[in-house]
Amino acid sequence: MRPREFLSRMTLPAPEPVDPHLEQASRAALAGARGVPFWLDGDRPARRDPLEGDLDVDLAIVGGGLTGVWGAVLAAEAAPARSVVLLEAGDLAWAASGRNGGFCSASLTHGLGNGLSRWPGELATLNRLGRENLDAIEDTITRYGIDCAFTRSGELTVAVAPWQVDGLRELAALARSHGEDVDLLDAAQTRALVDSPTYLGALRDASGTALVDPARLVRGLAAAAERLGVRIVERTRVVALTDAGDRVRLATTSGTVRARRVLLGTNAFPSLLHRVRPYLVPVWDHVVVTEPLTPAQRTAIGWAGGEGLSDAGNQFHYYRLTPDGRLLWGGYDALYYYGGDLSRRRARNEATERLLVAHLLETFPQLAGIRISHTWGGAIDTCGRFAAFWQQAMDGKVCGVQGYTGLGVGASRFGAQVCLDLLDGAHTERTRLEMVRTKPLPFPPEPVRWLGIELTRRSIAAADAAAGRRNLWLRTLDRFGLGFDS
Ligand SMILES: Cc1cc2nc3c(=O)[nH]c(=O)nc-3n(C[C@H](O)[C@H](O)[C@H](O)COP(=O)(O)OP(=O)(O)OC[C@H]3O[C@@H](n4cnc5c(N)ncnc54)[C@H](O)[C@@H]3O)c2cc1C
Repeated sequence: MRPREFLSRMTLPAPEPVDPHLEQASRAALAGARGVPFWLDGDRPARRDPLEGDLDVDLAIVGGGLTGVWGAVLAAEAAPARSVVLLEAGDLAWAASGRNGGFCSASLTHGLGNGLSRWPGELATLNRLGRENLDAIEDTITRYGIDCAFTRSGELTVAVAPWQVDGLRELAALARSHGEDVDLLDAAQTRALVDSPTYLGALRDASGTALVDPARLVRGLAAAAERLGVRIVERTRVVALTDAGDRVRLATTSGTVRARRVLLGTNAFPSLLHRVRPYLVPVWDHVVVTEPLTPAQRTAIGWAGGEGLSDAGNQFHYYRLTPDGRLLWGGYDALYYYGGDLSRRRARNEATERLLVAHLLETFPQLAGIRISHTWGGAIDTCGRFAAFWQQAMDGKVCGVQGYTGLGVGASRFGAQVCLDLLDGAHTERTRLEMVRTKPLPFPPEPVRWLGIELTRRSIAAADAAAGRRNLWLRTLDRFGLGFDS
């Protein structure tokens, strides 16, 4: 066996559910599940034609996820005369933007604690810009009549272990000291909202998170961009960028584009700017979705407010109801494969799927017997600071944003807006941010990268099992502002 293959197989397997009854129940629930993202199942708009021949434009956008389509809408709105083309290697929204949980958060910093540890001096500004960003997303959806089930339902972070209750108390104090309107709930108050015997308390943030159907958001923004004059091509991979004086030459699989400016929104995929690659690792995150809950099941778990939920462990689940009343449940296992494997076979992982279902049934025993209709995985663009960073190249003609680390549904609009500011050479409040001017630390090359990530993953699991106590390895990473998250 080659070393690469050996290391790939060594990736920490998901621990099997301990209780054999739950293990069996998980297998039964998953029998017949479709390995397709729920958001991408069903009718889709007709696929746009690939690029044919050559094109000369003011702005080329690479990537047809949320970053790309937000960039297209914002660019066309700001300068209607600017010619814009968006080039997508596959189908719009096929990657992370059509595979996520649909939590659209105001946070630009992957949470308050992460923001405070990295940008304490500008956190108030980042929080304000994040709230304005979420409001602007809602305004845009309303303005263009985008049917994407956007609801400002808020978020509950639930404690399922006593140490997490203490953590939520500290987080509530921190949030209030930054002017955020949060409530701390005890077990009974939490269970009155959503009923799980595992809940010991919760932090409720009623306004900082919306839930959305992310694929419909991408498609709606793409349609709006086209109405504003943007050209979108699918099945067109950009294979190289070359500096050609006052233009950038984009060589694609079916033609050439010459563009004055280029916005890169390629997320976890290998960046066309090679210097970006050491800063990102693709981390696989998995999701299961149930059949629609019956009225009796809904009554048994409550959840009338339809909030987005996550639990407060280091390895956390996120879960929500879909617009048609299913339960979407994801997270916990964040898997990195040696060499940053992005092949589509990684989108299924049966052990992780069974683990997710077992945790779902432990949380909601009222749902015993429920069946899973969809299961899938997607790659997250993890960077060492867990929040987006920007990279310019070719004398400012090219700008990319990536590194959202599992919280890009909302932040992608801000990411694209900053790219456009930088490409236009505009000096704005956004471009002056330290967050925008700095970058995370790079990951070391393989095999140290893989070994470091595995050690971190095992340490995080150990911390959750030891009342949150972080071992020497995690404390050392914390001191240097390094980490691994999803
Ligand atoms: C399972 C999962 C759950 C998540 N849950 C949440 C959540 O609940 N809330 C949240 O905020 N975030 C979540 N995220 C993260 C969120 O989905 C991403 O941060 C966001 O979608 C990033 O959008 P993007 O457009 O930058 O990237 P993507 O959606 O990945 O789009 C990048 C696109 O670039 C294209 N591309 C790449 N290279 C090229 C090339 N050379 N030429 C042409 N096209 C190219 C790809 O084909 C792809 O379509 C989750 C992610 C996953 C995987």
